[in-house]
Amino acid sequence: MKYDVVVVGAGTAGLVSASLLALEGKKVLLVEKHKYLGGRAMEHRFRGHQIGLGSHLVEDPGDSLTKVCELMGLTLVHSERSDSMPFWDKDHWGPIQNQYSGEAKVGLKRCIEALMETPYEELDTLDHLSMREWMSKYTKEEGAFLVWEAISILEQITDKPYDHSASENLYVRKMHYEKKRTAGYSFWPMGGWEKLWKDMAAKFEGLGGEVRLSTTVKRVEVVDGRITGVTLKDRDRPDEDDDGEFVEADQVVINAPVWNIPELFEEGVLPFNLLQRVKMLADNRNKACWLGYWIAAKEPVIAMSEREMASFQATPRTGLGGFTLNFTGYDPSVSPKGEYLTCVGAAFDATEHWGDKAWIDRKFEEFWLDIEDMMPASKGALWKKKHLVTTYGVINKPGLVGAVRPDAEVREIEGLYLTGDTTRSRGIGIDKAARSGITTTEVLLGKRLPQFADTVRY
Ligand SMILES: Cc1cc2nc3c(=O)[nH]c(=O)nc-3n(C[C@H](O)[C@H](O)[C@H](O)COP(=O)(O)OP(=O)(O)OC[C@H]3O[C@@H](n4cnc5c(N)ncnc54)[C@H](O)[C@@H]3O)c2cc1C
Repeated sequence: MKYDVVVVGAGTAGLVSASLLALEGKKVLLVEKHKYLGGRAMEHRFRGHQIGLGSHLVEDPGDSLTKVCELMGLTLVHSERSDSMPFWDKDHWGPIQNQYSGEAKVGLKRCIEALMETPYEELDTLDHLSMREWMSKYTKEEGAFLVWEAISILEQITDKPYDHSASENLYVRKMHYEKKRTAGYSFWPMGGWEKLWKDMAAKFEGLGGEVRLSTTVKRVEVVDGRITGVTLKDRDRPDEDDDGEFVEADQVVINAPVWNIPELFEEGVLPFNLLQRVKMLADNRNKACWLGYWIAAKEPVIAMSEREMASFQATPRTGLGGFTLNFTGYDPSVSPKGEYLTCVGAAFDATEHWGDKAWIDRKFEEFWLDIEDMMPASKGALWKKKHLVTTYGVINKPGLVGAVRPDAEVREIEGLYLTGDTTRSRGIGIDKAARSGITTTEVLLGKRLPQFADTVRY
Protein backbone atom coordinates (compact mmCIF):
# COMPACT_ATOMS: atom_id res chain seq x y z
CA MET A 1 0.00 0.00 0.00
CA LYS A 2 1.39 3.40 -0.96
CA TYR A 3 0.24 6.53 0.87
CA ASP A 4 0.30 10.12 -0.31
CA VAL A 5 1.42 11.26 3.13
CA VAL A 6 2.63 9.62 6.34
CA VAL A 7 2.23 11.82 9.42
CA VAL A 8 4.65 10.91 12.20
CA GLY A 9 2.97 11.57 15.54
CA ALA A 10 -0.64 12.09 16.62
CA GLY A 11 -0.14 15.16 18.78
CA THR A 12 -2.29 18.23 18.18
CA ALA A 13 -0.37 19.29 15.06
CA GLY A 14 -0.25 15.78 13.61
CA LEU A 15 -3.98 15.26 14.12
CA VAL A 16 -4.77 18.67 12.62
CA SER A 17 -2.52 18.15 9.63
CA ALA A 18 -3.66 14.58 8.97
CA SER A 19 -7.31 15.66 9.23
CA LEU A 20 -6.96 18.58 6.83
CA LEU A 21 -4.97 16.51 4.34
CA ALA A 22 -7.63 13.79 4.41
CA LEU A 23 -10.30 16.43 3.88
CA GLU A 24 -8.36 17.51 0.80
CA GLY A 25 -8.56 13.98 -0.55
CA LYS A 26 -5.06 12.75 0.37
CA LYS A 27 -4.47 9.15 1.37
CA VAL A 28 -2.93 9.59 4.81
CA LEU A 29 -1.41 7.27 7.40
CA LEU A 30 -1.07 8.71 10.92
CA VAL A 31 1.49 6.83 13.03
CA GLU A 32 1.72 7.33 16.80
CA LYS A 33 4.23 5.62 19.07
CA HIS A 34 2.04 5.82 22.17
CA LYS A 35 -1.16 3.89 22.66
CA TYR A 36 -3.03 7.17 23.17
CA LEU A 37 -3.72 10.21 21.00
CA GLY A 38 -2.91 13.86 21.72
CA GLY A 39 0.81 13.68 22.49
CA ARG A 40 1.66 16.20 25.20
CA ALA A 41 -2.03 17.17 25.33
CA MET A 42 -3.04 13.67 26.41
CA GLU A 43 -5.33 13.15 29.33
CA HIS A 44 -6.00 10.48 31.92
CA ARG A 45 -8.00 9.80 35.07
CA PHE A 46 -6.41 10.12 38.49
CA ARG A 47 -8.51 9.31 41.56
CA GLY A 48 -11.63 10.10 39.58
CA HIS A 49 -10.33 13.44 38.27
CA GLN A 50 -9.65 14.11 34.61
CA ILE A 51 -6.10 15.39 34.45
CA GLY A 52 -3.68 15.88 31.62
CA LEU A 53 0.06 16.04 31.70
CA GLY A 54 -0.56 19.60 32.74
CA SER A 55 -3.02 22.41 32.82
CA HIS A 56 -4.42 22.29 29.37
CA LEU A 57 -6.46 25.38 28.70
CA VAL A 58 -6.26 26.55 25.12
CA GLU A 59 -5.94 30.05 23.76
CA ASP A 60 -7.61 29.59 20.37
CA PRO A 61 -9.98 32.51 19.80
CA GLY A 62 -11.76 30.47 17.12
CA ASP A 63 -9.63 30.41 13.99
CA SER A 64 -7.35 27.43 14.62
CA LEU A 65 -8.32 24.18 16.41
CA THR A 66 -11.96 25.30 16.75
CA LYS A 67 -12.19 25.82 13.00
CA VAL A 68 -10.46 22.54 12.18
CA CYS A 69 -13.03 20.76 14.35
CA GLU A 70 -15.83 22.59 12.56
CA LEU A 71 -14.51 21.41 9.19
CA MET A 72 -14.36 17.86 10.50
CA GLY A 73 -18.00 18.06 11.59
CA LEU A 74 -17.15 18.40 15.29
CA THR A 75 -17.98 21.14 17.75
CA LEU A 76 -15.25 22.27 20.08
CA VAL A 77 -17.27 23.75 22.91
CA HIS A 78 -15.38 26.52 24.70
CA SER A 79 -15.95 26.59 28.44
CA GLU A 80 -16.87 29.92 29.93
CA ARG A 81 -13.75 31.97 30.21
CA SER A 82 -11.94 33.19 33.26
CA ASP A 83 -13.86 35.97 34.99
CA SER A 84 -10.89 37.51 36.77
CA MET A 85 -7.14 37.61 37.01
CA PRO A 86 -6.08 37.79 40.63
CA PHE A 87 -2.48 38.80 41.17
CA TRP A 88 -0.39 38.02 44.27
CA ASP A 89 0.87 41.32 45.67
CA LYS A 90 3.61 40.49 48.21
CA ASP A 91 1.23 39.09 50.87
CA HIS A 92 -2.28 39.13 49.45
CA TRP A 93 -4.35 38.57 46.31
CA GLY A 94 -5.96 41.46 44.51
CA PRO A 95 -7.43 42.10 41.06
CA ILE A 96 -4.68 42.74 38.50
CA GLN A 97 -6.40 46.05 37.79
CA ASN A 98 -5.04 47.32 41.14
CA GLN A 99 -1.57 47.18 39.63
CA TYR A 100 -2.15 49.70 36.86
CA SER A 101 -4.02 52.79 37.85
CA GLY A 102 -3.25 56.37 36.75
CA GLU A 103 -0.24 56.78 34.47
CA ALA A 104 0.26 53.02 34.15
CA LYS A 105 -3.27 52.66 32.77
CA VAL A 106 -2.57 55.41 30.24
CA GLY A 107 0.71 53.70 29.30
CA LEU A 108 -0.97 50.34 28.82
CA LYS A 109 -3.63 51.95 26.63
CA ARG A 110 -0.88 53.45 24.46
CA CYS A 111 0.69 49.99 24.10
CA ILE A 112 -2.65 48.45 23.11
CA GLU A 113 -3.29 51.16 20.52
CA ALA A 114 0.22 50.83 19.09
CA LEU A 115 -0.15 47.04 18.90
CA MET A 116 -3.47 47.29 17.08
CA GLU A 117 -1.78 49.48 14.47
CA THR A 118 1.18 47.12 14.08
CA PRO A 119 0.65 44.58 11.30
CA TYR A 120 1.28 40.94 12.21
CA GLU A 121 4.15 40.77 9.68
CA GLU A 122 5.98 43.50 11.57
CA LEU A 123 5.96 41.32 14.70
CA ASP A 124 8.24 38.97 12.77
CA THR A 125 10.99 41.59 13.03
CA LEU A 126 10.87 41.42 16.86
CA ASP A 127 12.13 37.86 17.42
CA HIS A 128 15.28 39.17 19.13
CA LEU A 129 13.49 41.57 21.48
CA SER A 130 11.80 41.28 24.85
CA MET A 131 8.22 42.52 25.19
CA ARG A 132 9.39 45.10 27.72
CA GLU A 133 11.79 46.65 25.19
CA TRP A 134 8.92 47.03 22.74
CA MET A 135 6.54 48.43 25.40
CA SER A 136 9.20 50.89 26.56
CA LYS A 137 8.64 52.88 23.37
CA TYR A 138 5.16 53.73 24.68
CA THR A 139 5.44 53.71 28.47
CA LYS A 140 7.95 53.65 31.32
CA GLU A 141 5.38 52.54 33.91
CA GLU A 142 6.14 49.34 35.84
CA GLY A 143 2.40 48.74 36.35
CA ALA A 144 1.86 48.63 32.58
CA PHE A 145 4.72 46.15 32.04
CA LEU A 146 3.46 44.04 34.90
CA VAL A 147 0.03 43.33 33.40
CA TRP A 148 1.28 41.84 30.15
CA GLU A 149 4.21 40.15 31.87
CA ALA A 150 1.89 38.49 34.40
CA ILE A 151 -0.13 37.08 31.48
CA SER A 152 3.09 36.01 29.85
CA ILE A 153 4.06 33.94 32.92
CA LEU A 154 0.73 32.12 32.64
CA GLU A 155 0.98 31.53 28.93
CA GLN A 156 4.64 31.16 28.03
CA ILE A 157 6.15 30.16 31.40
CA THR A 158 8.83 32.81 31.04
CA ASP A 159 9.39 34.82 34.19
CA LYS A 160 12.15 37.41 33.83
CA PRO A 161 11.46 40.80 32.23
CA TYR A 162 14.03 40.18 29.50
CA ASP A 163 12.75 36.65 28.81
CA HIS A 164 9.22 37.49 27.65
CA SER A 165 9.54 37.43 23.87
CA ALA A 166 8.13 40.50 22.09
CA SER A 167 7.11 38.75 18.88
CA GLU A 168 5.48 35.79 20.57
CA ASN A 169 3.59 37.62 23.30
CA LEU A 170 2.52 40.57 21.17
CA TYR A 171 1.15 38.17 18.57
CA VAL A 172 -1.14 36.59 21.16
CA ARG A 173 -2.15 39.91 22.74
CA LYS A 174 -3.02 41.33 19.32
CA MET A 175 -4.96 38.22 18.31
CA HIS A 176 -6.97 38.16 21.53
CA TYR A 177 -7.70 41.90 21.54
CA GLU A 178 -8.77 41.77 17.89
CA LYS A 179 -10.84 38.61 17.99
CA LYS A 180 -12.12 38.57 21.58
CA ARG A 181 -11.64 42.17 22.80
CA THR A 182 -9.69 40.99 25.81
CA ALA A 183 -6.02 40.77 26.77
CA GLY A 184 -6.05 37.01 27.26
CA TYR A 185 -8.59 34.44 26.09
CA SER A 186 -8.41 30.82 27.18
CA PHE A 187 -10.90 28.01 27.63
CA TRP A 188 -11.23 24.39 28.59
CA PRO A 189 -12.70 22.10 25.89
CA MET A 190 -15.97 20.89 27.38
CA GLY A 191 -15.90 17.09 27.51
CA GLY A 192 -12.11 17.07 27.80
CA TRP A 193 -9.14 16.43 25.54
CA GLU A 194 -9.23 12.66 25.30
CA LYS A 195 -12.73 12.74 23.87
CA LEU A 196 -11.81 15.46 21.40
CA TRP A 197 -8.75 13.62 20.07
CA LYS A 198 -10.70 10.37 19.75
CA ASP A 199 -13.56 12.12 17.94
CA MET A 200 -11.09 13.77 15.59
CA ALA A 201 -9.33 10.49 14.80
CA ALA A 202 -12.71 8.82 14.13
CA LYS A 203 -13.65 11.58 11.66
CA PHE A 204 -10.23 11.25 10.03
CA GLU A 205 -10.79 7.51 9.62
CA GLY A 206 -14.24 8.27 8.22
CA LEU A 207 -12.47 10.20 5.47
CA GLY A 208 -10.34 7.18 4.58
CA GLY A 209 -7.39 8.03 6.84
CA GLU A 210 -5.61 5.30 8.78
CA VAL A 211 -4.34 5.53 12.35
CA ARG A 212 -1.73 3.18 13.79
CA LEU A 213 -1.24 3.61 17.52
CA SER A 214 1.56 2.00 19.56
CA THR A 215 3.67 2.11 16.41
CA THR A 216 6.99 3.92 16.26
CA VAL A 217 8.49 5.37 13.14
CA LYS A 218 12.05 4.17 13.31
CA ARG A 219 13.36 6.00 10.28
CA VAL A 220 12.22 8.46 7.65
CA GLU A 221 13.56 7.16 4.34
CA VAL A 222 15.26 9.52 1.93
CA VAL A 223 16.81 8.44 -1.38
CA ASP A 224 18.62 10.90 -3.64
CA GLY A 225 17.19 13.88 -1.77
CA ARG A 226 13.60 12.61 -2.02
CA ILE A 227 11.26 11.04 0.54
CA THR A 228 10.40 7.44 -0.25
CA GLY A 229 8.51 6.52 2.92
CA VAL A 230 9.10 5.49 6.52
CA THR A 231 10.26 2.36 8.29
CA LEU A 232 8.22 1.29 11.30
CA LYS A 233 9.64 -0.54 14.27
CA ASP A 234 8.49 -4.12 14.33
CA ARG A 235 5.73 -4.17 16.95
CA ASP A 236 6.26 -7.82 17.77
CA ARG A 237 10.01 -7.50 18.12
CA PRO A 238 10.50 -3.89 19.32
CA ASP A 239 13.96 -4.50 20.75
CA GLU A 240 15.32 -6.33 17.72
CA ASP A 241 17.58 -4.46 15.39
CA ASP A 242 15.79 -5.73 12.31
CA ASP A 243 14.72 -3.90 9.18
CA GLY A 244 11.18 -3.17 10.35
CA GLU A 245 8.21 -2.58 8.07
CA PHE A 246 8.69 -0.22 5.13
CA VAL A 247 5.71 1.99 4.26
CA GLU A 248 5.88 3.80 0.94
CA ALA A 249 4.86 7.47 0.69
CA ASP A 250 5.78 10.51 -1.38
CA GLN A 251 5.51 12.90 1.49
CA VAL A 252 6.18 12.74 5.21
CA VAL A 253 5.03 15.24 7.85
CA ILE A 254 6.97 14.97 11.10
CA ASN A 255 5.03 16.03 14.17
CA ALA A 256 7.68 14.70 16.57
CA PRO A 257 9.15 17.62 18.58
CA VAL A 258 12.68 18.85 17.80
CA TRP A 259 14.15 16.65 20.53
CA ASN A 260 12.93 13.56 18.62
CA ILE A 261 13.80 14.64 15.07
CA PRO A 262 17.50 13.68 14.68
CA GLU A 263 16.88 10.03 15.67
CA LEU A 264 14.47 9.66 12.75
CA PHE A 265 17.21 10.00 10.12
CA GLU A 266 20.33 8.19 9.04
CA GLU A 267 23.41 10.26 9.82
CA GLY A 268 24.19 12.88 7.19
CA VAL A 269 20.68 12.97 5.72
CA LEU A 270 19.38 16.11 7.40
CA PRO A 271 20.85 19.35 6.06
CA PHE A 272 23.63 20.64 8.33
CA ASN A 273 22.02 24.01 9.15
CA LEU A 274 18.66 22.44 9.99
CA LEU A 275 20.26 19.82 12.23
CA GLN A 276 22.26 22.46 14.09
CA ARG A 277 19.15 24.55 14.75
CA VAL A 278 17.17 21.49 15.82
CA LYS A 279 19.91 20.49 18.26
CA MET A 280 20.18 23.99 19.66
CA LEU A 281 16.41 24.25 20.22
CA ALA A 282 16.29 20.73 21.67
CA ASP A 283 18.91 21.51 24.32
CA ASN A 284 17.31 20.82 27.70
CA ARG A 285 18.28 24.27 28.90
CA ASN A 286 16.04 25.79 26.25
CA LYS A 287 12.93 24.07 27.58
CA ALA A 288 10.07 25.76 29.41
CA CYS A 289 9.93 24.21 32.88
CA TRP A 290 7.83 24.42 35.98
CA LEU A 291 7.24 22.53 39.17
CA GLY A 292 3.77 22.25 40.57
CA TYR A 293 1.02 20.46 42.40
CA TRP A 294 -2.32 19.01 41.46
CA ILE A 295 -4.61 19.49 44.44
CA ALA A 296 -8.00 17.90 45.07
CA ALA A 297 -10.14 19.25 47.89
CA LYS A 298 -13.68 19.40 49.19
CA GLU A 299 -13.77 23.14 48.63
CA PRO A 300 -12.25 25.13 45.76
CA VAL A 301 -8.56 25.91 46.26
CA ILE A 302 -8.53 29.35 44.71
CA ALA A 303 -7.07 32.81 44.95
CA MET A 304 -10.27 34.84 44.68
CA SER A 305 -12.93 33.28 42.46
CA GLU A 306 -13.82 29.85 41.11
CA ARG A 307 -13.14 30.50 37.45
CA GLU A 308 -9.99 32.56 37.46
CA MET A 309 -6.55 32.57 35.94
CA ALA A 310 -4.44 33.75 38.85
CA SER A 311 -0.84 34.73 38.52
CA PHE A 312 2.10 35.59 40.76
CA GLN A 313 5.55 36.96 40.06
CA ALA A 314 7.19 35.65 43.23
CA THR A 315 5.82 33.41 45.95
CA PRO A 316 7.03 34.27 49.46
CA ARG A 317 9.49 31.38 49.87
CA THR A 318 10.41 30.15 46.37
CA GLY A 319 10.62 33.60 44.79
CA LEU A 320 9.27 31.99 41.62
CA GLY A 321 6.48 33.24 39.37
CA GLY A 322 3.62 31.11 38.14
CA PHE A 323 -0.08 30.39 37.99
CA THR A 324 -2.97 28.73 39.73
CA LEU A 325 -6.09 27.40 38.13
CA ASN A 326 -9.19 25.64 39.48
CA PHE A 327 -10.32 23.27 36.71
CA THR A 328 -13.60 22.38 38.32
CA GLY A 329 -14.64 26.02 37.97
CA TYR A 330 -14.30 25.70 34.19
CA ASP A 331 -15.89 22.28 33.82
CA PRO A 332 -17.43 20.57 36.89
CA SER A 333 -17.35 17.22 35.05
CA VAL A 334 -13.56 16.97 35.42
CA SER A 335 -13.95 16.03 39.10
CA PRO A 336 -16.06 13.63 41.15
CA LYS A 337 -19.11 15.33 42.66
CA GLY A 338 -18.24 17.44 45.68
CA GLU A 339 -14.52 17.62 44.85
CA TYR A 340 -12.48 20.38 43.24
CA LEU A 341 -9.31 20.14 41.22
CA THR A 342 -6.63 22.82 41.19
CA CYS A 343 -3.30 22.99 39.42
CA VAL A 344 -0.59 25.34 40.68
CA GLY A 345 2.73 25.79 38.92
CA ALA A 346 5.90 27.83 39.43
CA ALA A 347 8.15 28.46 36.44
CA PHE A 348 11.89 28.06 36.78
CA ASP A 349 14.77 28.85 34.50
CA ALA A 350 16.21 25.68 32.97
CA THR A 351 19.46 27.48 32.07
CA GLU A 352 20.12 27.78 35.80
CA HIS A 353 18.46 24.74 37.33
CA TRP A 354 18.13 21.92 34.79
CA GLY A 355 18.98 18.64 36.51
CA ASP A 356 19.65 20.29 39.90
CA LYS A 357 17.70 17.76 41.95
CA ALA A 358 18.56 19.23 45.35
CA TRP A 359 17.36 22.69 44.27
CA ILE A 360 14.17 21.26 42.74
CA ASP A 361 13.37 19.17 45.85
CA ARG A 362 13.86 22.22 48.04
CA LYS A 363 11.62 24.35 45.83
CA PHE A 364 8.87 21.72 45.91
CA GLU A 365 8.89 21.86 49.71
CA GLU A 366 8.95 25.66 49.84
CA PHE A 367 6.24 25.86 47.20
CA TRP A 368 3.81 23.72 49.18
CA LEU A 369 4.24 25.95 52.24
CA ASP A 370 3.67 28.98 49.99
CA ILE A 371 0.52 27.42 48.55
CA GLU A 372 -0.85 26.81 52.05
CA ASP A 373 -0.30 30.48 52.88
CA MET A 374 -1.58 31.80 49.56
CA MET A 375 -4.61 29.51 49.27
CA PRO A 376 -5.53 28.28 52.76
CA ALA A 377 -8.15 25.83 51.43
CA SER A 378 -5.21 23.69 50.29
CA LYS A 379 -4.56 22.76 53.94
CA GLY A 380 -7.64 20.55 53.78
CA ALA A 381 -6.57 18.84 50.55
CA LEU A 382 -7.82 15.29 49.96
CA TRP A 383 -4.63 14.65 48.08
CA LYS A 384 -1.87 16.52 46.33
CA LYS A 385 0.32 15.31 43.50
CA LYS A 386 3.63 16.84 42.51
CA HIS A 387 4.54 17.38 38.88
CA LEU A 388 7.78 18.51 37.34
CA VAL A 389 7.22 19.76 33.80
CA THR A 390 10.13 19.64 31.39
CA THR A 391 8.35 19.00 28.09
CA TYR A 392 5.99 21.97 27.85
CA GLY A 393 7.98 22.98 24.80
CA VAL A 394 10.95 24.99 23.60
CA ILE A 395 10.80 28.15 25.67
CA ASN A 396 9.54 31.26 23.91
CA LYS A 397 12.40 33.56 24.85
CA PRO A 398 13.90 36.20 22.55
CA GLY A 399 16.24 34.49 20.10
CA LEU A 400 14.49 31.13 20.40
CA VAL A 401 11.28 32.02 18.56
CA GLY A 402 10.14 32.69 15.02
CA ALA A 403 12.62 32.44 12.17
CA VAL A 404 15.22 30.48 14.16
CA ARG A 405 12.78 27.56 14.35
CA PRO A 406 12.57 25.08 11.45
CA ASP A 407 10.15 26.02 8.68
CA ALA A 408 7.22 23.80 7.69
CA GLU A 409 9.06 22.70 4.57
CA VAL A 410 12.51 21.12 4.57
CA ARG A 411 13.52 22.56 1.22
CA GLU A 412 16.60 20.38 0.79
CA ILE A 413 14.60 17.13 0.94
CA GLU A 414 11.72 16.80 -1.49
CA GLY A 415 8.54 15.71 0.25
CA LEU A 416 9.66 16.37 3.85
CA TYR A 417 7.63 18.65 6.12
CA LEU A 418 7.72 19.51 9.82
CA THR A 419 4.92 20.54 12.12
CA GLY A 420 4.27 21.15 15.82
CA ASP A 421 4.85 23.74 18.50
CA THR A 422 8.64 23.42 18.37
CA THR A 423 8.71 24.47 14.70
CA ARG A 424 8.11 27.94 13.31
CA SER A 425 4.68 28.98 14.44
CA ARG A 426 3.18 31.61 16.71
CA GLY A 427 1.06 31.40 19.84
CA ILE A 428 0.90 29.19 22.88
CA GLY A 429 1.07 25.44 23.34
CA ILE A 430 -1.90 23.67 21.81
CA ASP A 431 -3.02 26.68 19.81
CA LYS A 432 0.49 27.12 18.46
CA ALA A 433 0.61 23.43 17.52
CA ALA A 434 -2.79 23.62 15.79
CA ARG A 435 -1.72 26.72 13.84
CA SER A 436 1.42 24.92 12.81
CA GLY A 437 -0.65 21.93 11.65
CA ILE A 438 -2.70 24.26 9.45
CA THR A 439 0.39 26.02 8.08
CA THR A 440 2.19 22.77 7.27
CA THR A 441 -0.88 21.44 5.46
CA GLU A 442 -1.11 24.61 3.39
CA VAL A 443 2.60 24.50 2.54
CA LEU A 444 2.41 20.83 1.56
CA LEU A 445 -0.63 21.48 -0.62
CA GLY A 446 0.97 24.60 -2.07
CA LYS A 447 -2.08 26.74 -1.44
CA ARG A 448 -3.89 28.55 1.31
CA LEU A 449 -7.08 26.88 2.43
CA PRO A 450 -9.93 29.38 2.01
CA GLN A 451 -11.42 28.44 5.39
CA PHE A 452 -8.24 29.72 7.02
CA ALA A 453 -7.85 32.84 4.90
CA ASP A 454 -8.27 34.99 8.03
CA THR A 455 -5.98 32.85 10.14
CA VAL A 456 -2.74 34.65 10.66
CA ARG A 457 0.37 32.88 9.47
CA TYR A 458 3.74 33.61 11.01
C1 LIG B 1 2.60 19.42 31.52
C2 LIG B 1 2.21 20.23 30.34
C3 LIG B 1 1.25 21.23 30.47
C4 LIG B 1 0.88 21.97 29.38
N1 LIG B 1 -0.10 22.92 29.53
C5 LIG B 1 -0.58 23.56 28.43
C6 LIG B 1 -1.69 24.45 28.51
O1 LIG B 1 -2.27 24.67 29.56
N2 LIG B 1 -2.11 25.06 27.38
C7 LIG B 1 -1.51 24.83 26.18
O2 LIG B 1 -1.94 25.40 25.18
N3 LIG B 1 -0.44 24.01 26.07
C8 LIG B 1 0.02 23.37 27.17
N4 LIG B 1 1.08 22.51 27.05
C9 LIG B 1 1.79 22.42 25.77
C10 LIG B 1 1.02 21.57 24.80
O3 LIG B 1 0.74 20.32 25.38
C11 LIG B 1 1.92 21.38 23.57
O4 LIG B 1 2.30 22.65 23.09
C12 LIG B 1 1.17 20.69 22.45
O5 LIG B 1 0.44 19.60 22.93
C13 LIG B 1 2.21 20.27 21.40
O6 LIG B 1 1.58 19.57 20.36
P1 LIG B 1 2.46 19.03 19.17
O7 LIG B 1 1.53 18.38 18.23
O8 LIG B 1 3.31 20.11 18.64
O9 LIG B 1 3.49 17.97 19.80
P2 LIG B 1 3.26 16.65 20.66
O10 LIG B 1 2.00 16.72 21.44
O11 LIG B 1 4.52 16.41 21.39
O12 LIG B 1 3.06 15.52 19.56
C14 LIG B 1 4.11 14.82 18.98
C15 LIG B 1 3.69 13.37 18.83
O13 LIG B 1 4.68 12.67 18.08
C16 LIG B 1 4.80 11.38 18.64
N5 LIG B 1 6.07 10.81 18.19
C17 LIG B 1 7.32 11.26 18.46
N6 LIG B 1 8.25 10.48 17.86
C18 LIG B 1 7.55 9.52 17.20
C19 LIG B 1 7.94 8.41 16.40
N7 LIG B 1 9.23 8.14 16.15
N8 LIG B 1 6.98 7.61 15.88
C20 LIG B 1 5.66 7.86 16.12
N9 LIG B 1 5.24 8.90 16.88
C21 LIG B 1 6.17 9.71 17.41
C22 LIG B 1 4.70 11.64 20.14
O14 LIG B 1 4.41 10.47 20.85
C23 LIG B 1 3.58 12.67 20.17
O15 LIG B 1 2.31 12.07 20.28
C24 LIG B 1 1.49 21.73 28.13
C25 LIG B 1 2.46 20.75 28.00
C26 LIG B 1 2.82 19.99 29.09
C27 LIG B 1 3.87 18.92 28.93
